[in-house]
Amino acid sequence: MKTKRKRIHILATGGTISGIGERGATSGYSPGVLPIDALLKGLPRMLDIAEVTGEQFASLNSDDITQTIWLALAKRVNSLAMSGAYDGFVITHGTDTLEESAYFFHLSVKTEKPVVVTGAMRPATATSADGPLNLYQSVALAASDDALGQGVLVLFSEGIYSGRDVRKGNTFRVHAITGGDMGSLGLMRDEIPTFYHKTLKAHTTATEFDLADIQTLPRVAIAYFHVDADPTVLDALAASHDGLVIAGAGDGVVSLRWEERLRALCEKGFPIVRATRVPDGAVFRGAGMPDDDIGTLAAGTLSPEKARVLLMLGLSRTRDTHRLQAMFDMY
Ligand code: ASP
Repeated sequence: MKTKRKRIHILATGGTISGIGERGATSGYSPGVLPIDALLKGLPRMLDIAEVTGEQFASLNSDDITQTIWLALAKRVNSLAMSGAYDGFVITHGTDTLEESAYFFHLSVKTEKPVVVTGAMRPATATSADGPLNLYQSVALAASDDALGQGVLVLFSEGIYSGRDVRKGNTFRVHAITGGDMGSLGLMRDEIPTFYHKTLKAHTTATEFDLADIQTLPRVAIAYFHVDADPTVLDALAASHDGLVIAGAGDGVVSLRWEERLRALCEKGFPIVRATRVPDGAVFRGAGMPDDDIGTLAAGTLSPEKARVLLMLGLSRTRDTHRLQAMFDMY
């Protein structure tokens, strides 16, 4: 006997998956052009696996995603999940900033139902476009009981990643998405997911981030350290932001001139998180720099972009550095 098909709702935001360009070409295209209905028409087999509906939430290059869109989209998923009308969700998104949005949703959507983010590296008009398979498999993943309670997942090139650890690791190849040191959670073969791992970090329903009353998030900037980096950028950024993430060298380390400025800002109660510009590894508290002495926080395995997302949400709850560090340890 056939089981009832799951109801999966797609929220489309644009990106290359909906891009069009010169026939067959993989570059030189316009992203965010095709509506979700057009993408679904090319996937008749999808109807065998789920009842699929779609809405065009935005039509953007993902470099133009804003916190306003994050808030609106997360709240939309929350209300649709609560309504009981759907069993799972897919969000289509450009790959450039997908890792930031996926982590934002991972921390802030309040549902155990699967939420899968996907995109594509090649426009819909390219030879061997990757969008159709990614979209098809994302719907299958969102319809799978195995994806329940796993937080926000990213499906890309037959890999399943946690929204916490996923990042873009290549500027143009189809296998552009990676989990880095944390790897993938599982693999997809046609419409069948197989999970091998699970994140132990708290997410979705287990976080303290309730967006219901939030209209705007605190402003957090990232300061990128390099040889001879000008320390006055730290004061300039601090003047116009509520918190700062440092993309330090090695295990989140900066020059003595930068350290002096960080110390002065921390003494004034300005929150600063140390992350690293190195793609893999971690910034452990007290390693590389004396955080207890300076007053900085340590990002752990979060990249500067992801640390920024968590600091924005964290500062919406508290400015207490102990509580903020506890969030970096927990999420
Ligand atoms: N520029 C595109 C975007 O992030 C790239 C992509 O989708 O792959 O929206």
